[in-house]
Amino acid sequence: MTQQVALVTGSSRGIGRGIALALAEVGFHVAVNYASRREAAEEVADAIRARGVEADVFGGDIGDDAQRDELYEAVMRRFGRIDVLVNNAGVAPQKRLDLLETEPAGFDRLMRINLRGPFFLTQKVAKQMIALVRRDPQARPKIINVGSVSAYAASVNRPEYCLSKAGVGMMTRLFAARLAEYGILVYEVRPGIIATDMTAAVKAKYDELIANNITPIKRWGTPEDVGRTVAGIATDMLPFSTGEVINVDGGFHIRQL
Ligand code: NAP
Repeated sequence: MTQQVALVTGSSRGIGRGIALALAEVGFHVAVNYASRREAAEEVADAIRARGVEADVFGGDIGDDAQRDELYEAVMRRFGRIDVLVNNAGVAPQKRLDLLETEPAGFDRLMRINLRGPFFLTQKVAKQMIALVRRDPQARPKIINVGSVSAYAASVNRPEYCLSKAGVGMMTRLFAARLAEYGILVYEVRPGIIATDMTAAVKAKYDELIANNITPIKRWGTPEDVGRTVAGIATDMLPFSTGEVINVDGGFHIRQL
């Protein structure tokens, strides 16, 4: 089988880094995307190459149309194909504000990065994947979106984040319905509380929630937890599922009485 290539957006740090390394472990070449921290992305690429596969770094703000297009073109120039797209890049609000005070500029910035960017990148990559399955019948392309428990858990101090992740949930189902006829499967991985730079600012709050049993599995999640899940999907472990949400949340989603 031809060497498969994965593009992981926002893989210089955190969950994206965990996903990129896990995909390398199972044999994918990896395109490592970052927004501004090139050095961190280079470190991830070095760690991937140490696993015996190829990697390169690609800068580009996923929320910016021109930069996103150039990211896609650059990955295609370097690798010639994208078998697995992982839409991981995402941001928290710059200011956590009560939803009665949410500001349009912050709302638009977050939606551009967390929803609009992944939507249009997926549209572009999906067309490439349709061409790929036509020229390589062995190709088994997949799109994996990193959503969040915030798709359904209402945090009234970051409504734009919750809305963006609810949108990612529908985006998963839309592309799943549209692309199944080509054998392109689409999934959402839905992390809970994961230890990364994003949650570092609210660590004390989440330490306390976990200590008070907010999750049946009583610990922080890790980027490795999410990475292993994505690697399982990417290696065809869910062959008759599409549009599926895989919770990686220590059981946070279970309502209890
Ligand atoms: P993180 O530690 O803050 O890392 C964010 C990554 O995304 C970095 O690699 C960053 O690149 C990149 N990035 C940020 N803005 C970007 C942009 N505009 N274009 C391209 N890349 C961009 O975040 P994380 O916690 O790993 O989160 C990753 C994903 O998981 C996000 O979609 C987030 O919403 C989701 N998630 C996280 C948690 C959690 O508990 N941490 C829970 C549920 C869902 P630079 O290094 O260059 O800045």
